[in-house]
Amino acid sequence: MAESLYIHIPFCRKKCLYCDFYSVSLDLSTVSDYVNVLCAQISSLGLDFRTIYIGGGTPSILSVKLWEKLLRVLDKKRRPGCEFTVEANPESLDTSKLKLFANWGVNRISIGVQSLCDDKLKKLGRIHSAIEAIRAVLKAERKGFDNISIDFIFGVWGESLNSWKEELKEAVKLPISHISVYCLSYEENTILFQKQSKKEIVPLAEDELAQMYKYNRNYLAKAGFSQYEVSSFSKTGFQCRHNLNYWDNEPYLGLGPSAVSYLGGIRAQNCLDVRRYITLTSQAQNTVASSEELSTERKAKETAALKIRTKQGIDFKWFKNHTGVDFMKLEAKNLNSLIQPGLLRLKKLRKVTRGVCLTKKGFLFCDTVSKSFL
Ligand code: SF4
Repeated sequence: MAESLYIHIPFCRKKCLYCDFYSVSLDLSTVSDYVNVLCAQISSLGLDFRTIYIGGGTPSILSVKLWEKLLRVLDKKRRPGCEFTVEANPESLDTSKLKLFANWGVNRISIGVQSLCDDKLKKLGRIHSAIEAIRAVLKAERKGFDNISIDFIFGVWGESLNSWKEELKEAVKLPISHISVYCLSYEENTILFQKQSKKEIVPLAEDELAQMYKYNRNYLAKAGFSQYEVSSFSKTGFQCRHNLNYWDNEPYLGLGPSAVSYLGGIRAQNCLDVRRYITLTSQAQNTVASSEELSTERKAKETAALKIRTKQGIDFKWFKNHTGVDFMKLEAKNLNSLIQPGLLRLKKLRKVTRGVCLTKKGFLFCDTVSKSFL
């Protein structure tokens, strides 16, 4: 049974140049219809949740009135102590929304800061400025939020290690408890991908990116943020429980176009069209566009691929309990080719091998390691 709920709000004011998430431009009547169908769906759920995460898109783009509607129905679906996160973008996070969030049990705000340098924000196609981003974080703090996360991007073409160091220095001065730091990637179907293909931009070299990544880990640790996943750093007690559930490959329910659910061993993705989602939901029809029932082996492999992203890595006993599969048998052929070049290391306790985790070098190649488990 799912203990985590994800809700996708697929509206943005403008598409960022690097973004390949499903989102459409804001259209007031669609937004209103969408919130109505979501509320009906949520009300009909016979479940309550340990974590709720409203992501996007740009959730903070919804009006106060629509937020109130949504939060009212979600209020009945929160278990005591529920971690309730709302993603927000700086330009649309205002005090009235923050007040509403605080009143209706939202206890974690994740702000898409991305950069504290206006030129870099422009390059990425973001519509807010650095000062707006700082103000958004301070506003959240003033409204009493102590669990504020910010997203950051490094490795933008033309960026130097020194300018990145300056940004991180400013970032940790903010009243935040969590920071997610992503390396810019050039995903197909994005403007940046086209620009890169046409050689209009030259991405940073691998070794420059590696230097930045290493710097993140060391600098953030000194500033009190320990790494608990390849891109995630938090102060003590502020790891994102919703994401930890995801990396444990535990069940979750996803609502909204493009949202993925993982329930009863079936991974299913909703259609990628908000109008279609509204129509299907209003007619009580299935919104799933594609699904896959995972075999025991597949489930185990996916669990390994997700869990290895965490600093803790894979504990063999946990893995066996969780998947019914012996990790060493499952990955026997693969393991040496990852341990030998220093990407993985075995975790031993009293001379007994209890698990496996990424090395510092392995974190740099996390995607490669993760894919090799699938
Ligand atoms: S605001 Fe977020 S979801 Fe919207 S286009 Fe930008 S990166 Fe994508």
